[in-house]
Amino acid sequence: MEYLSRKLELLKEDKLFRYHPMCGKLKISHLIFADDLLLFAKGDLYSVQKLYHCVKDFSATTGLEANLSKCSIYFGGRLQVIKSEILGVQNYWTTNFVLPVKVTQKIDELCRKFLWGKSDTTFRIPLVSWDKVCYRKKQGGLGVFSASIWNLSSALRSLWYIHVNKESLWVKWIHGNYLKHWDIWYVKAKKENSWMWKQLIKCRDRAVAATGGIDNLKKTLSACYKDSKLQLSTVYSVFSPGSHIVPWYNTVWGKLNYPKHTFVLWLAVQNRLLTHDRLMRRGTINSNICLLCAGTASETRNHLFFDCPFSREVWLAIMDWLRMTWQSCEWELLMNWFYTRQRGNGFKTNVRRLALAATVYRLWIERNNRFFQKGVTGAAHLVKNIKFDILTICLNSSILDEYRDWIISL
Ligand SMILES: [Zn+2]
Repeated sequence: MEYLSRKLELLKEDKLFRYHPMCGKLKISHLIFADDLLLFAKGDLYSVQKLYHCVKDFSATTGLEANLSKCSIYFGGRLQVIKSEILGVQNYWTTNFVLPVKVTQKIDELCRKFLWGKSDTTFRIPLVSWDKVCYRKKQGGLGVFSASIWNLSSALRSLWYIHVNKESLWVKWIHGNYLKHWDIWYVKAKKENSWMWKQLIKCRDRAVAATGGIDNLKKTLSACYKDSKLQLSTVYSVFSPGSHIVPWYNTVWGKLNYPKHTFVLWLAVQNRLLTHDRLMRRGTINSNICLLCAGTASETRNHLFFDCPFSREVWLAIMDWLRMTWQSCEWELLMNWFYTRQRGNGFKTNVRRLALAATVYRLWIERNNRFFQKGVTGAAHLVKNIKFDILTICLNSSILDEYRDWIISL
């Protein structure tokens, strides 16, 4: 591994290699823990190829190959980091232990802060409550697991294993030392019992109260059984706060959408982007004029998407380009059309969703650039960028020839 480390260190001298934006200051290109390896770079072709060649050279010299089934690639998004890394660590610990409430609250708090960012971004203020973020995607959330509810679910799984007397040393030990002849659903914790055992019993009582009795809880848990295993994610769903299914689920989570586009569209459909009207209400600014059309119109979600003459020009150009016969620049009408008429999963439907998400995202970034005085891009250039976004995804997806021909003919 030292050989690989030395090869990666040489990247410091390569002027074209670009570090991951958060690693540039310290010039970190990799971290190695025992036999785990993390590589970091900016997502441009040159930098990624450089990392790839370092690993390839290492394999050719040492004969050691990376196990592809154990490798993952992550493209920056905060949400992805929360889902894959932070909660992954926590899930590991809750497999065998009940975590203290304060710890799970702290995990949720850290994830919340990380999601909305602490630096000078417009997402500094939590724009959607953590409870809602933890709703499933169909219910309008981001499908993040709440540490507290996951903790409860894991504890219930342990209780269930004790109940069914699962073949394991731990279950045998619990029966021998704690339960003896007692039933796990009725046993009471004693003063001298360990903290962990008391927590397990507390979780049981919480779940009994939530389901309305011991028999109901047992029925609920036995319904979470699949392939002779208690499905933790099913238990989690049962105990996570419920909400109705939102009509915009398919539109926002279009299969071809870029994650960062989806995130901004997710905020837009809930009217949670920090538009000027909302900033005025918060007292952050004291005048409200749209920066895109520089007219007298106020900046609201519906003005930006796409009442504004500037946005309208961009969105009309994209709709024309995609040969959409039904067109609208009115947010509510447009959304309603997407929810009701664009419900399937056909390729062209997904391209229209991709186009909507890309346009909303690009316009929002353009508005932010003007707000933070980072420059101005014209409508024609913006249209070009959106088309590029759409083509990049479509031409890199495995699609039928007729769709490939259609997208090339546009
Ligand atoms: Zn405007």
